[in-house]
Amino acid sequence: MTIKERMDKALEMAGQTKGAEISQGALKSTPVLFNKFFPGQKAVVITDHFVWTAAGEAVYNIMNAEGVPCEKFIIPDKSFHAEWKYVEMIEEVLKQTGAIAIAVGSGVINDVCKLASHRLGQRYICIASAASADGYSASGSAIVKDGAKQTFVCPAPLVIIGDSDVLCNAPARLTTAGYADLAAKIPAGGEWLIADLFGTEPIKPDAWHVIQDMLPEVLADAQGIADRTPKAVENIFAGLTMSGVAMQIANDTRPLSCAEHLYSHYLDMTHHTFEDRMVLHGFQVSVGTVTLCAFFDELLKMDLTKLDVDACVAAWPTKEQEVARATELFKNFPVPELGPTEIAKKWQSPEEVREQLLRVKNTWPEFKEKLRNQVYTFEKMRDLFVTANAPVTPEQIGVSREQWRNMTNFVQLMRWRVNLFDLAKRTQIFDTLVGNVFGKGGALEIGA
Ligand SMILES: [Zn+2]
Repeated sequence: MTIKERMDKALEMAGQTKGAEISQGALKSTPVLFNKFFPGQKAVVITDHFVWTAAGEAVYNIMNAEGVPCEKFIIPDKSFHAEWKYVEMIEEVLKQTGAIAIAVGSGVINDVCKLASHRLGQRYICIASAASADGYSASGSAIVKDGAKQTFVCPAPLVIIGDSDVLCNAPARLTTAGYADLAAKIPAGGEWLIADLFGTEPIKPDAWHVIQDMLPEVLADAQGIADRTPKAVENIFAGLTMSGVAMQIANDTRPLSCAEHLYSHYLDMTHHTFEDRMVLHGFQVSVGTVTLCAFFDELLKMDLTKLDVDACVAAWPTKEQEVARATELFKNFPVPELGPTEIAKKWQSPEEVREQLLRVKNTWPEFKEKLRNQVYTFEKMRDLFVTANAPVTPEQIGVSREQWRNMTNFVQLMRWRVNLFDLAKRTQIFDTLVGNVFGKGGALEIGA
């Protein structure tokens, strides 16, 4: 199946996004798609100064040349973030023009237009300016309101357009970041298999196949990402779009991310900067992804058929002990209540844990095989990332290996969702795995 065929099939299942055009020269299809999905309506191109030149003006001209009524609005500020005031600004533009938004730009423009359109009960078209992250086609908008980043529930764009002539001209690091954000779905898939085995979050086959089936082909072309060939960049953008579609199908972010993303969330929450700026989401996730691959390598070296289930259950802490551990660990964290709250949701009774441990022990040879087929080795993932120019060590994003190792303790606790570290805690091998990854000869050996 070609990527395009996979995409068409996925869109049939998607709850929210119904049209997509990802190709060289895709901007030209804007009037046709607009008339198909918004017949008889008027459009307004919403963009910023930079993207106006790169793509916005072209869209505006194509729409008018084809006789589709179209206005334009260029966000006046030279530099801006996804903040509430811009949602209000765009809402006002949509009210005044009575038009449908065509968001032309980065994830920020998209998030702002997504929420503003939703607040007026409208849908919109997204034209991406960079293949940088999977948020374009996700339902929900990440906006800073009252000083805190919040995710507002709202539908994904009705139509997504990615033109490789535009995407290839975005700064190279943005495409690399998008590549890494897509590669994260490899270990995240492995962790979903663990949650499936534990019975906490069963695999949803439609969502799983939409994203996982295309990944090996798309990720293999790391050189194409470094060279920014139209095909490679289109494929990455298609993969990122399909990620959002998988989320729409699953009605959940489980298909998109797991522990590798939690390292990134930790950095965001602690306002980490490197060389005076925030590290791109995809670059944080890149290091998280190779880290998880290294942990999977170490996990798969273990012989869990010999697991002493009784001993593991006897060592299993009570909920109170876990909450106390999280409270202590998170006491100086900017959001101290996060760990205790999430672990209280995640903790399971000794009876449930016994059941899960028996499943691990009894199915280990097959389950191990399943994980190996899913998750790339550290070496394979690292080599792909190095080729694509993505960071592969914590120090490349301004974090020491000691800090990164210590973050693993937080990562295990900071989300209710079952991850690899929960399997390690239940089987009492957490410390061994951490020691093997960060110790002498480990993939992320401290001091190496
Ligand atoms: Zn991501």
